[in-house]
Amino acid sequence: MAATIPIHDPTAPPLPGAKTEVKTTTCYMCACRCGIRVHLRDGGNGPEVRYIEGNPEHPLNQGVMCAKGASGIMKQYSPARLTQPLRRKPGTERGAGEYEPISWEETFQILTERLAKLRATDPKQFALFTGRDQMQALTGLFARQFGTPNYAAHGGFCSVNMAAGMIYTIGGSFWEFGGPDLDRARLFVMIGTAEDHHSNPMKTALSKFKRAGGRFVAINPVRTGYSAIADEWIPIRPGTDGALLMALIRELIALGLYDRDFVARYTNAGQLVNQDEASDDFGMMMRNPVGDVINPLRHHNFWWWDRLQGRPVADHADGADPALFGSFQMPDGTPVKPAFQLLEERVRECTPEWAEGITGIPADTIRRLAHEMGVTARDHTIELPIAWTDWWGREHKSVKGNPVAFHAMRGLAAHSNGFQTVRALAILMSLLGTIDRPGGFRHKAPYPRAVPPNARPPKGPASVKPNTPLDAPPLGWVETPADLCVDDAGEPVRIDKGFSWEYPFSAHGLMHNVITNAWRGDPYPIDTLLLFMANMAWNSTMNTSEVRQMLVDKKDDGSYRIPFIVVCDAFQSETTAFADLILPDTTYLERHDAMSMLDRPISEFDGPCDSVRVPVLPPLGQCKPFQEVLVELASRLKLPAFTTPEGGRKFKDYPDFIVRYETAPGSGIGFLTGWRGEDGSQSMRGAPNPRQWELYAANNCVHHHVMPPEHRYMRNWNRGYLQWAQQVGLRRDLDPITIHIYSEFMQRFRLAAQGKGDGRQPPDRLRDRVATYFDPLPFWYAPLEVQASDTQAFPLAAVTQRPMAMYHSWDSQNAWLRQIHAHNYLFVNPRTAAAAGIADDDWIWVESAWGKVRCQCRFSEAVEPGTVWTWNAIGKAKGAWSLDDKANESERGFLLNHLIKEELPAQGGTTVSNADPITGQAGWYDVRVRIRRAGDDEPRQTWPQFDSKPALPGTRRQRWRAWFAGRAEGQTR
Ligand code: SF4
Repeated sequence: MAATIPIHDPTAPPLPGAKTEVKTTTCYMCACRCGIRVHLRDGGNGPEVRYIEGNPEHPLNQGVMCAKGASGIMKQYSPARLTQPLRRKPGTERGAGEYEPISWEETFQILTERLAKLRATDPKQFALFTGRDQMQALTGLFARQFGTPNYAAHGGFCSVNMAAGMIYTIGGSFWEFGGPDLDRARLFVMIGTAEDHHSNPMKTALSKFKRAGGRFVAINPVRTGYSAIADEWIPIRPGTDGALLMALIRELIALGLYDRDFVARYTNAGQLVNQDEASDDFGMMMRNPVGDVINPLRHHNFWWWDRLQGRPVADHADGADPALFGSFQMPDGTPVKPAFQLLEERVRECTPEWAEGITGIPADTIRRLAHEMGVTARDHTIELPIAWTDWWGREHKSVKGNPVAFHAMRGLAAHSNGFQTVRALAILMSLLGTIDRPGGFRHKAPYPRAVPPNARPPKGPASVKPNTPLDAPPLGWVETPADLCVDDAGEPVRIDKGFSWEYPFSAHGLMHNVITNAWRGDPYPIDTLLLFMANMAWNSTMNTSEVRQMLVDKKDDGSYRIPFIVVCDAFQSETTAFADLILPDTTYLERHDAMSMLDRPISEFDGPCDSVRVPVLPPLGQCKPFQEVLVELASRLKLPAFTTPEGGRKFKDYPDFIVRYETAPGSGIGFLTGWRGEDGSQSMRGAPNPRQWELYAANNCVHHHVMPPEHRYMRNWNRGYLQWAQQVGLRRDLDPITIHIYSEFMQRFRLAAQGKGDGRQPPDRLRDRVATYFDPLPFWYAPLEVQASDTQAFPLAAVTQRPMAMYHSWDSQNAWLRQIHAHNYLFVNPRTAAAAGIADDDWIWVESAWGKVRCQCRFSEAVEPGTVWTWNAIGKAKGAWSLDDKANESERGFLLNHLIKEELPAQGGTTVSNADPITGQAGWYDVRVRIRRAGDDEPRQTWPQFDSKPALPGTRRQRWRAWFAGRAEGQTR
């Protein structure tokens, strides 16, 4: 055996004559999208990745790299990589894992023929659901052009409550669309966030913040991730954050520690609300018939009660000061109250003692926290010498700010009470006067947007026509019942029941119900389900075992209940085994990508910023980027946006599409904002530039449009910014974006449920549900699953967290990252374990009302005693991801998903999604469990176990792949 070459010598010189080079692109080992430099070396079989480092010239990460990003090499050279299109072998059963390679041409013929028939008959028979793909502007366009409403990405099972709750309140949201200004904050409160999403920039900002003396408070049932460096950890029971926030709001109002000037001028707190219970407009804002509507598409003619003159005046009338408290009568006799008065009445009983009983946080801690927030905001105001003019023409010599910042994510969102909880958080932030101000929350382009943004979903069955694009994007923002996607009986049009009366504000759809609904044929059966980058037969689904059965279940006639399943992924995941057709995707290092302003860009506080990926390596085998697949399919299907007027193909490929596509002919707005115009001299808007990719590649793959200082703050009401935003197409309208302390959009739905108005009404079975949860003011209620649970029998909350070193299932198969976590434990507070007679490292059973898992217990003091938790997505099914059948991931790793049901029992023997009744957000963190010691005679192995699947053709199960640059594949070690 030749053993002359060391296993790994990073300092070894290249092979004689080997070329080395460094290329810049954008990381995709998590959704953060840092700039990277990929070091390549000619390895005899073409370029190989030698090393990946952070790009110091990139605005997002400024050179910072994390463990995941550096391990991208092992994703590239994973033995689980798919390398060729595969078809389930004729005559074999779905799920058996028997496949044969086919050509791309044959693949496209199969798809084109099938999809063309569906499009010509009933386009909604085709459903396209994607995971965390970062290309929703393209996938959504494809679905719309195809004419199917059955499209969504991962948001509904991720954090749509965070997006929707914030956007329906302040016109912006955390992470991609906004975040904490830690450069100027003094107090930072992180609630419901582990190591998540905004990864490297958050770590960098926290480091600077703490070095500058800022105080960091973490509120979370578990102390992991960022919380590990918090100055104070406040443990909280899962699903109770709303109660804490309501109590904090109460305290701020009771102590007068809210920013009255900000609240009065920039929120709807002073607007008068109709209090005539007999009126059809009860609970709606009073409209001033002679007031300035400002925007004919969204009227702004509200009333204030001017406390100086003691009478109603047009809101924002010169010299007026709105009363925030009181009860008044309009000249026509209508009783009214300012919205703020209603908020105060709502929170009056939400005392710290009340919240203590729900959250487990001592009342004194809640009081102290509220006081600290209020006093820090009041006594440490920031003033920047930046002149700006507000929407109503008032000139300001400076920008002011209150240095209390927040960050929150899925811990708040992934509960069936999450929308109202997030509304409460946004209102708390608003009361402290911290919205788009220094030291508080700051927006990132394309936000702020209207409350709610202007895109509306299709309105009903008439929107779905053969061979015709939808008349609206498949996903959007609902403002009134007229915007719902329901039929004349008020029943859903979408397969996931999104935008129906069950989940009216489901802005991201309900991916976690697609398979169950399609299997049951409720509201109708579908023909073809195309899943992209979503591990729906494993960690991306609730009720994993039963969902896997649904994927193989047949009708009486022997045909599959879901007739045709197409899976596009880069790896042999657990889901590929259930596909009829497998499309091999590339890795992020092998393709073009656009992190677009039309989608989810990487904007900075000081201006819009978008970025791209460019291929630094050729695709492995026959891998093809999913973007190319969509452009090819759209061209073959002759979808109008991809077809010339003469019927020819409009775009050569995906890069050509990105450069030449415009939102409307001649709009000058496309996927990328940089180097537009024929000569590349324009930013944000301009004619297509054929050299755009080249210019991005030459500029670190990023374009940053830095705005002048006077446009960087108070953007909801900043006239200069709003005018510019409209000019460059970030906004349709030119009107102020008022903060909705009180949501009359919610009230409209409640009125409809109460039988008022002449618009659409919910089906009778849903009236109480809509009337209860569509409250115009936030309130706390126990999550729906908790309401339906026997909490005596199942006393513990169970949640998952994302490990800092991994992101979804992509990384828990990564050879380097597996050195950090190859299996997971259930972390249990020692007191809780002791009460159950469980010792550290014992094998235990964890049971919910829906299922059970066997796993190993690990003691942890960093979890509140009523909660148990584990890392997500580490457990794997045997044989998936090219891991050995005895791999720790399947022998000792487990999924909590087996304990979580995708549906809950509903009225009359029906079911309803285990989701927020407003947005359809999956209630991942609502499950209740109990634990017991496993018998000494039981196997020391997690349960359930699944049969191994054969390695897919073209993957390299259990084989070492050459990945040391400079050495040919297969070379002897
Ligand atoms: S934070 Fe995410 S995007 Fe940034 S380097 Fe790490 S894995 Fe890559």
